[in-house]
Amino acid sequence: MQEYDVVIVGAGISGLTAASILQKKGLSVKILELASEPGGRMRSENYAGFILDRGFHLFLQALPEAKSTLDYQKLELKSLYPGILVYYKGAFNIISNPLKKSLDILSMSVASNATFWDKIKLGKLFNDIQQMDEHEIFNIPEKTSLEFLTEYGFSNKIIQSFFKPLLSTAFLENEMKTSSRLLHFNLKMLFSEDASLPKEGIGAVPKMMAAALLPDTIQYKAKVKHVHDNMVELTSGEVISGKKIILSANAMDLEKICPGLSGNIDAHHVSTLYFAASVAPVKKPIVMLNGEGKGIVNNAFVPSLVQPSYAPSGMHLISVNVTKPNDFDDYELVDQVQMELIEWYGTQVSQWEHLKTYHIKYAIPRKKSISFSAYSKQISEDLFICGDHLTYGSLNAALRSGKEVALRVEQSIEQPVEHFTKTAI
Ligand SMILES: Cc1cc2nc3c(=O)[nH]c(=O)nc-3n(C[C@H](O)[C@H](O)[C@H](O)COP(=O)(O)OP(=O)(O)OC[C@H]3O[C@@H](n4cnc5c(N)ncnc54)[C@H](O)[C@@H]3O)c2cc1C
Repeated sequence: MQEYDVVIVGAGISGLTAASILQKKGLSVKILELASEPGGRMRSENYAGFILDRGFHLFLQALPEAKSTLDYQKLELKSLYPGILVYYKGAFNIISNPLKKSLDILSMSVASNATFWDKIKLGKLFNDIQQMDEHEIFNIPEKTSLEFLTEYGFSNKIIQSFFKPLLSTAFLENEMKTSSRLLHFNLKMLFSEDASLPKEGIGAVPKMMAAALLPDTIQYKAKVKHVHDNMVELTSGEVISGKKIILSANAMDLEKICPGLSGNIDAHHVSTLYFAASVAPVKKPIVMLNGEGKGIVNNAFVPSLVQPSYAPSGMHLISVNVTKPNDFDDYELVDQVQMELIEWYGTQVSQWEHLKTYHIKYAIPRKKSISFSAYSKQISEDLFICGDHLTYGSLNAALRSGKEVALRVEQSIEQPVEHFTKTAI
């Protein structure tokens, strides 16, 4: 039987982060990953010459953990247009980033989905958030986003037409129940620096991290069935032993490996549809939100306007997110989405070729409240868990969680606990 200092279940962002840190400390590390590539929920697929991210992702350059860990140059990032287009009452309205595009202030001043006072308040909110550091943000009194925005004085018009679809895009939820702390954090991340895409797709992030590990660190197509004491058993029957074991699977998968461990397996779902077109429906590389409140489309975006590598030469790739629950089958969903988007972009939409739809059941964890004290957990003397399900769904949380669990493992090796009690978690 093979024995390692640390066995990690899962080669998502958190597992890869932990592996990298522990390997640099000289420990022998093995990652067991059920898929045939790294990245977990942050992967891309090459499909008919297009790069399809498995669900619409954006790389927010301001994320503190990403900044301190990842090599942005290697990712060959290109930026989106700094602002958001909102489709409202039959026209596109721009909500610009006040810190970046001063020219848009003029078009924003006539945006019909917000009152004059909304525009003033928006500027004030961006400014307030800009002054706050991460620690302050995560310590503001927690409310739902809807409560916070209403109390801040925004009109129902801008809440429904801008914030609601924005929250559906960022957190994949439709009720604005996301913690106001997370709303603050995401607005800060979205507006303080560029949102971008890597040249080779969002999956380039975990690929770069995996490539930095020692050869053969990751065993692919290795589905873990059980973890018992210091033994990890694969569905193939193979057993691997680790002095320390880290489980980095999402809460739903974790529940299958160790029932009762994850606590909360609730998650937000999303369907991302991809289309090919010879002509892009817009000129700007910008996210477009459905501010109308009707239909099922949440947002549309043309990744190939940011990174031409997302589509073969002469073609464009269009992504469409659906977060609203619906009963459509796959064919009906494509028809429904195209029908809605004809209203946005005209009849050219009927020429789009549907490439693929990803239905992601466990996209990001559904959290009522955000506790930032527990990015990782020690379950017993030798068993640890990490991953975004402990805090919030984001590249930032997954990186931080991997970092923190590595520290806990390191400390437990240096100072073994003789009589471990769960209260030490
Ligand atoms: C559609 C979508 C859009 C998103 N958009 C953004 C965005 O724009 N910006 C952002 O910052 N974040 C975004 N996120 C969130 C981000 O992708 C996640 O927070 C992050 O990737 C989670 O990493 P993780 O390591 O915690 O978990 P995971 O990525 O889930 O990694 C867990 C790994 O464990 C493996 N595994 C599970 N069970 C087993 C088993 N039994 N045996 C072996 N291996 C197993 C899985 O295959 C997986 O590789 C998005 C997520 C989705 C799904």
